[in-house]
Amino acid sequence: MDVSLVLTHDCNLGCTYCYAGEKFRKAMSLEVMDRALDLGFADDAAKIQLSFFGGEPLLEWGRLVRATAEAEARAAATGKKLVLTVTTNGTLLTDERAAYLAAHGFFVGLSIDGIREAHDATRPTRGGKASFDEAERGLDLLLAHDAWFETISVVDPANVRHLGATVRWLAEKGVPRIALNPNFSAEWSDEDLAAWERGYGEAAELYVARSLADQPLYINVIEDKLITHVKGGYAADDKCSMGHGAVAVAPSGNLYPCERMVEEDRDPSLRIGDVFRGIDRGRMMCLDAQSGPVNDECGGCAVKGRCMSFCACANRAETGSIGIAGGVQCWHEQMLIRIADVAGNTLWRAKNRYFLARVYAYRDVA
Ligand code: SF4
Ligand code: SF4
Repeated sequence: MDVSLVLTHDCNLGCTYCYAGEKFRKAMSLEVMDRALDLGFADDAAKIQLSFFGGEPLLEWGRLVRATAEAEARAAATGKKLVLTVTTNGTLLTDERAAYLAAHGFFVGLSIDGIREAHDATRPTRGGKASFDEAERGLDLLLAHDAWFETISVVDPANVRHLGATVRWLAEKGVPRIALNPNFSAEWSDEDLAAWERGYGEAAELYVARSLADQPLYINVIEDKLITHVKGGYAADDKCSMGHGAVAVAPSGNLYPCERMVEEDRDPSLRIGDVFRGIDRGRMMCLDAQSGPVNDECGGCAVKGRCMSFCACANRAETGSIGIAGGVQCWHEQMLIRIADVAGNTLWRAKNRYFLARVYAYRDVA
């Protein structure tokens, strides 16, 4: 079973949209950590993904190193493949820490909202100061150590007007994988939505230009939607598991279906057990019954298979219900599919080898 450890509720930043909720000093005990690893290694899956989240997980660097060593020892003893990931704001990275993450094969998700104006609009420190310089320093360390990583930029009304410039800047820095992550919990005006569509258009133009120039670049929103065209929609294993095969562990040991649902660990309606007693199947059935989307309009929707409205977290962020998709998400999915398909048509007509290899999974790329 894949396990996400929320090492702490604390964070040194105060992002405007933070899904972790109120910050406080509660770190995961070593006993909870060991029980969580027991859970992860208990089944007969050949692979386990161990992920570190927060708050800011690098505030608990010693715990991260200990859990990594323990998981590596267990993987060696059981023959399981271990995949390590960490999602961090990057401000606490040092040369030694970046070297450690690269040496242990971590996949790092670095949260940075883009160019200075975009980042500082949404990701201030807890004291209200700018954090761009520290985040960029973290990005530069990952690049210098040739770490396996992607940037994660939250698209929010406060930074959406910089989206095109952000994607170009990240590409120029040498970021190999760019993830754009919509904030569906925000209030979006018509002008904001128009800026969002322009920004995605610019991202798609860059995606096409880089592929044609033999410098392919992964941009999640564009490439993932193109793959759904080829596959005829999202496959079952593309979707969040909601506790089936993966759990998030709060510092207290409580279990949740997804790390985004841990928040302050105060909502029992989202809990699915704890590390001491394991997963509560009754709670799982209860959450499964609420999964969606249940919107009437989705039933006959032509793009339902390519729509992310199965995502409980996205639904909950906008509508408060894990099974009800919101209007902004519905607009976003249809807008994004249109833009991605235009980019895909251009690359298809050009018979671009990177596009064919990555989206159509052809094997003949040199
Ligand atoms: S860095 Fe992450 S945990 Fe910290 S405030 Fe920002 S979104 Fe929340
Ligand atoms: S695009 Fe809208 S109507 Fe279609 S499946 Fe998604 S949320 Fe439902």
